[in-house]
Amino acid sequence: MVISEKLRHEAVTGFKFGRKLLGRPKMYSYLYFIDGLLIDTGQRLVRKQVLPVTNELPITQIFITHHHEDHTGNIKPIQEQHKCNVFGSEECSSIMKNPPSLSFAQQFTWGNRESFAEIRPVKDSIATPKHNFQLIPIPGHAPDMIALYEPDKQWLFSADLYINPYIGYFLKTESIAEQIASIKTILLLDFKVMFCSHNPQLKNPRQQLRKKLDFLEVSFDTVAELHKNGLTATQIFKELQWKENHFVKTLSGGQLSKLNMVRSIIRDIENRALS
Ligand SMILES: [Zn+2]
Repeated sequence: MVISEKLRHEAVTGFKFGRKLLGRPKMYSYLYFIDGLLIDTGQRLVRKQVLPVTNELPITQIFITHHHEDHTGNIKPIQEQHKCNVFGSEECSSIMKNPPSLSFAQQFTWGNRESFAEIRPVKDSIATPKHNFQLIPIPGHAPDMIALYEPDKQWLFSADLYINPYIGYFLKTESIAEQIASIKTILLLDFKVMFCSHNPQLKNPRQQLRKKLDFLEVSFDTVAELHKNGLTATQIFKELQWKENHFVKTLSGGQLSKLNMVRSIIRDIENRALS
């Protein structure tokens, strides 16, 4: 079942698209539209619902926060609707020329996405007639991820930096140490609304983001301590009595799991020791 909802805050409109899967949580994502700028394009599986909506919007440019399939699933048809430029980070532009293949779980949840070779790399800012957005690299969840910050309005478009104050499933490629650093960078900014791509926070966004920072820091320190005592990733996982969602882990061929979080922390520690 497809759900679509609209969110309004000042001059920002958010469009929520997703599906209810039997007995499973609702998986949805947001597209944001502000002053001609469309931020992200949603997942392929809701294309039928997304395209009539974007067709009605006066889109003059598109910004892609990162290469994940729930943000890049409809770049091509939306670009064709409006014949506009598509922007993203240098790294996003290069990844999207030949994006990595998806696990079954990812395809099942979001749908696959086609490559898109025309993302124009931008660095410091992107402007609309009324606003100037600072572009802030926030790697960790994905290496190419960017937040957009409008200082006059105190809006933050945080992509997938927040989602929840904890992490349920962790991608093999994520880095906790980088996520901690990215959250700290963002907490230095003066924002009062956080347009998260999955879970917008219109009230107390800083408090929520701090909760996530605490969760990540405590997890990091706990795993680091056990690792120092010579425990392996699997032993640490058992010791902490973390629970795995085997449905998700198996479907994703191990791409999405909580054990990945332990592995990521160990990788971060070893990388740190090398540098
Ligand atoms: Zn993502």
